[in-house]
Amino acid sequence: MPVHRVAGGWRWGKSGKVYKSRAGAERQARAIYASGWRGDAEARLRRAYARTDAADPRRRPGLPIYPPGHKVGTEVPEGGSSCANCRHYKEGGTCDSPAFQEWNGSDIIPLPDEDPTRYCSDLWEPRK
Ligand code: SF4
Repeated sequence: MPVHRVAGGWRWGKSGKVYKSRAGAERQARAIYASGWRGDAEARLRRAYARTDAADPRRRPGLPIYPPGHKVGTEVPEGGSSCANCRHYKEGGTCDSPAFQEWNGSDIIPLPDEDPTRYCSDLWEPRK
């Protein structure tokens, strides 16, 4: 569940701390994702598979077909492809790729130490 407005401020998730600013709730989300939490990412992936008509690639959803257990996004060493040089990366640590958002369950990228050079996903595309 993305960060959303609630009475008294902003919250990430269905329950828990309410922050006065959106930035506070986004920081909490980043910390939770950075700890490895993915919510029901696997269930979302299975639903994406279920919608896939493998016989007609034009009808596939944003996500390609991956083997079970495949991690669409992961921590990477510095120096290669990463969010920092991807056209989907937005300031503040978010991603505008609909496919990544579907897999991740949020537009907030789980950046290690909030460093966009240390994370990448299969949805990476070069900056033009
Ligand atoms: S590398 Fe993946 S997660 Fe990072 S900005 Fe690009 S599409 Fe989004």
